[in-house]
Amino acid sequence: MSNNFDVVVIGAGPAGYAAAIRCAQLGLNTACIDKSIGKDGQPTLGGTCLNWGCIPSKALLDASHKYVEAKNELAEVGINTGDVSVDVPKMIARKDEVVAGLTGGIAGLFTGNGVTSFAGTGKLLSNKQVEVVDHDGGTQVLAAEHVILAPGSVPVDIPPAPLTEGVVVDSTGALEFDSVPGRLGVIGAGVIGLELGSVWNRLGAEVTVLEALEDFLPMADQRIARDAKKILSGQGVDIRLGTRVTGAEVTDAGVVVSFDDKDGSQTLIVDKLIVAVGRRPYTDELLDPDSGLVVDDRGFLAVDDTCATEQAGVYAVGDVVRGPMLAHKGTEEGVMVAERIAGFKPQVNYETIPSVIYTHPEIAWVGKTEQELKSEGVEFNAGSFPFAASGRALAANDTQGMVKVLADAETDRILGVHVLGPQASEIVAQAVIAMEFDASAEDLGLIMFAHPTLSEALHEAALGVSGHAIHMMNRKRK
Ligand code: FAD
Ligand code: NAD
Repeated sequence: MSNNFDVVVIGAGPAGYAAAIRCAQLGLNTACIDKSIGKDGQPTLGGTCLNWGCIPSKALLDASHKYVEAKNELAEVGINTGDVSVDVPKMIARKDEVVAGLTGGIAGLFTGNGVTSFAGTGKLLSNKQVEVVDHDGGTQVLAAEHVILAPGSVPVDIPPAPLTEGVVVDSTGALEFDSVPGRLGVIGAGVIGLELGSVWNRLGAEVTVLEALEDFLPMADQRIARDAKKILSGQGVDIRLGTRVTGAEVTDAGVVVSFDDKDGSQTLIVDKLIVAVGRRPYTDELLDPDSGLVVDDRGFLAVDDTCATEQAGVYAVGDVVRGPMLAHKGTEEGVMVAERIAGFKPQVNYETIPSVIYTHPEIAWVGKTEQELKSEGVEFNAGSFPFAASGRALAANDTQGMVKVLADAETDRILGVHVLGPQASEIVAQAVIAMEFDASAEDLGLIMFAHPTLSEALHEAALGVSGHAIHMMNRKRK
């Protein structure tokens, strides 16, 4: 086998594997190198997302939500279940099966599309050469016309709470508990803290989340964030803002977490502690000093809008570059770079990246928040619609939350859509489509939505921008 390729991709997460598959589909002789080892001790593809991120966390979120429904909610709709109990090892094993199916699927896609896969560590050398060190220490050097760096990210550690196997864990460890902890502490009320905190809270843990900031979910629309906090607190997740963790000591009585808040120094004793304070780019062993590339002071690789680095023919995509650390953002960057290498000119629209937090209800948004528009001095109109007034949400016994549409006061162009509610992740996709086509709130209001659907709440919120919502009191509006 020749070691010369048109494209070599380092990293087979959603950014790298999508880039590699698209390159091969476009007729480019493509190799992809990944160093991950799965739970079974074998090389695995799919990166963080498939192995330790999006997919396993959603498998546990969906399973734990079914448990809550069975235990607390089915009786309300006339279904008596009797005693409902949780089998954590079975839930974890099923999550592992889902992961194995999908990671194996990527291997199948590589074979089917003709991507040459290398299991090992890739390092960018000079002149677009890439060294591969396999898991037995064997080394070879690949030469490429183009190199795509997609090494992803890893959890950030904090000195006051060093990880301790099975007790003080990061997100990966929090997907592997073999029983429900009685008391669970979470450091960080970000996306991971809320999602994994929700999983174990639903299964019965007493969950306390310690967040350094005074604001809850500052990146979300603050009205939505306020309502979400109230709902999550009502579910039993104790979210304490403005706390600074100063230490975490593993003792026989549990993990003693010390923190400072507005009332002074406090302690909290928990059985397990999840550290979920963000992720950092994973560039260990990625760049040879002769590669011509260095990371910035936060560990990211600098790229332009087309994901080109300052070295001609070398690109970087996914969590290792600026922008939100989201799988779909990385995938679109990977596809864009593949197509640009093949001579096409696609772009990623960074203004319409959807964000979703998969709590229940889900929190999802795209575009600008109300507080961002205000701080930028943009005049806007807002329309909102509560799920409590949605026929479908009432029928489904799932009525918490609302949809909120923000539109430019002059042009009516949609600037942001914010959803707290059932299937918010699916509803926000419709808003992304509308914004991609530069829709106005009126355009969305003129479109026919099937009845009864949860999506009708988006329709009504868009109508509400001009005061035309049908299922709201708007007597004086024209
Ligand atoms: P990664 O998925 O991290 O993949 C990079 C791969 O490259 C890894 O396999 C790594 O081992 C490999 N690699 C690194 N360096 C080298 C090297 N030198 N040589 C060879 N291989 C190398 N995002 C969402 O959009 N939706 C979600 O619901 C979601 N849920 C998440 C839940 C959790 C618990 C976590 C931790 C993350 C979640 N994310 C979610 C974030 C998402 O997983 C990442 O944004 C995404 O995986 C980034 O893709 P990537 O391809 O850039 O990197
Ligand atoms: P995050 O940035 O979402 O949240 C981290 C939180 O920890 C922040 O609120 C921060 O203020 C807080 N924090 C930081 N240091 C702290 C400290 N010392 N004490 C207390 N609080 C502290 O990061 P995350 O939740 O770790 O997630 C990492 C990345 O993974 C995110 O960028 C996210 O986009 C991605 N992710 C996405 C999804 C999804 O799309 N549903 C799910 C999980 C993860």
